[in-house]
Amino acid sequence: MQSVADAVAEMLAATSGYALGEESVALLQLDGRILAKPLYAPETVPAFDNSAMDGYALHSRDAKLLCSTGLTLAGAALAGHPFRGVLQPGQALRIMTGAEMPAGADTVIMQEDVQAEGERIVSQVPLHPGSHVRHAGEDIRRGEVMLAAGQRLTPLHIGLIASVGLAQAEVFRKLRVALFSSGDELCQPGDSRQAHQIYDSNRFALRAMLERMPVEIIHFAWLPDTLEAMRSAIAAAAQEADVIITSAGVSVGDADYTRQVLDELGEVNFWRVAMKPGKPFAFGRVKNSWFFGLPGNPVSAIVTLDQLAQPVLRQLCGERVQAALPLLATAAEAFRKQPGRQDFQRIRLDSEAGVLMASPCGSQGSGLLHGFADAQGYAVLEAERGHVAPGEQVRVMPLGTLLN
Ligand code: AMP
Ligand code: MG
Repeated sequence: MQSVADAVAEMLAATSGYALGEESVALLQLDGRILAKPLYAPETVPAFDNSAMDGYALHSRDAKLLCSTGLTLAGAALAGHPFRGVLQPGQALRIMTGAEMPAGADTVIMQEDVQAEGERIVSQVPLHPGSHVRHAGEDIRRGEVMLAAGQRLTPLHIGLIASVGLAQAEVFRKLRVALFSSGDELCQPGDSRQAHQIYDSNRFALRAMLERMPVEIIHFAWLPDTLEAMRSAIAAAAQEADVIITSAGVSVGDADYTRQVLDELGEVNFWRVAMKPGKPFAFGRVKNSWFFGLPGNPVSAIVTLDQLAQPVLRQLCGERVQAALPLLATAAEAFRKQPGRQDFQRIRLDSEAGVLMASPCGSQGSGLLHGFADAQGYAVLEAERGHVAPGEQVRVMPLGTLLN
C-alpha cells in the first residue's frame, strides 16, 4: 500500500508542467479563475493624496494659529469634487473622506476635534503633522507585481484588479473534465428505482465539487457495466478532455471492465492507497487525458476526490498549490481507529474556552453519506495510530472549498 503523501507527490510530479492555454476574462467572470501571468499594477493606488476623514485640511505650520485665533475657511473639497485653489497661510479647507488634498495642505484634523464658528475654525486638540492623509502610492506602486501567476482569484483579488482600473485579466482556460459513474446497480435520481437498484449519487456530488474549481464538464454520463460502453465512452472522452474521472470499478470486482479498457487505451496504475475511506484508486494517462479512477462508495469517492485528486487537479488548472495549514484540536470524544491506514474521519468542531475540540460525527461507514453531510471537517489520524482517547491531540482539517 502507498501512503497518501506519496500518492499525491507522485501525481503532482507526473502532472507538473502541464500547461493550459490562456484567455482574457472580464472582471465579472474572474471569480475562481487562475491568473496565467503575473499582474503588474498599471496605476499607483491611491492615485492622489486624499483625506482619510471628514474634517478640515490645513498646513501643520498653522498649528499655533489653529488653537489661538483660528483659521479661515477657503472652501470645501468633496470626494469627486476637488478644491482647485491653493491654501494660503492661515486658511483651512472643509474636506470629506476621499476628497483630494488641496495644494498647500499637509494635514487633516477630524471634525469632532474642531469648533466651527461661521467661516472660522479653532481647535484645542494637539495637531499631528501629516495626520489623516492617505498618500499617493501608499498601497500599490505602478509597475509592481500585484499578484503572482498561479493565483486563484477570490473576491479580494477581483477588488484589487478593479481598483487599478483593469476590466479583465489573463487566466488559464478552464480544465476540460469528463466525469462518469459506472455500475449496473445504478438508477438515476428522478427515475423510479427497482428493488435491487441504488441511486447514482456520486456523479452529482463529484460534479458539484469539481465545479468549485475552474473546470468545464464536457462529458457527464452513467455507464453500464459492459466492456463496450466503457470502451466507447473513455475513448471518446480521451479525444478532448484534459482529465477523465470515473467512480467505481477500480476495486477487484467481476463486472468491472474499467481495468481492461484502461489497459487497452492507456497507462493507468491501480493503487491501494493507505487511507480510510478510500483505498482503491487509479491514476494515469489515457491518450491525451489524465485519468483518475475513484472508488464507488460515496464517502470514499468524495474523500479521494477531495484529498488525493484535488491538489493534482488544482495544479493542472495552473494554480500554485499550497499545503493545508496544520491545525491541532483536542478529541472531545473517543475516535475508533485501527492502525494501518491514514484516516480522514468526519468531525464536528467546537470551541471550549478558546480550545478547538473535535468529535466524530455520525457513522463513519464509507457508504454512508448522511453522517458526512453534518461534518465540518476531518480528523486526519496518522496511519500508525490506534484508538484515540478523549483529551488526546488530533490533527484536523476544516472542510475546504470543494465541500463547504
Ligand atoms: P465498486 O467500486 O464498483 O465496487 O462499488 C463500491 C460501492 O459503491 C458499491 O456498493 C456500489 O453500489 C457503490 N456505488 C458505485 N457507484 C456509485 C454511485 N455512482 N453512486 C452511489 N453509489 C455507488
Ligand atoms: Mg461496481
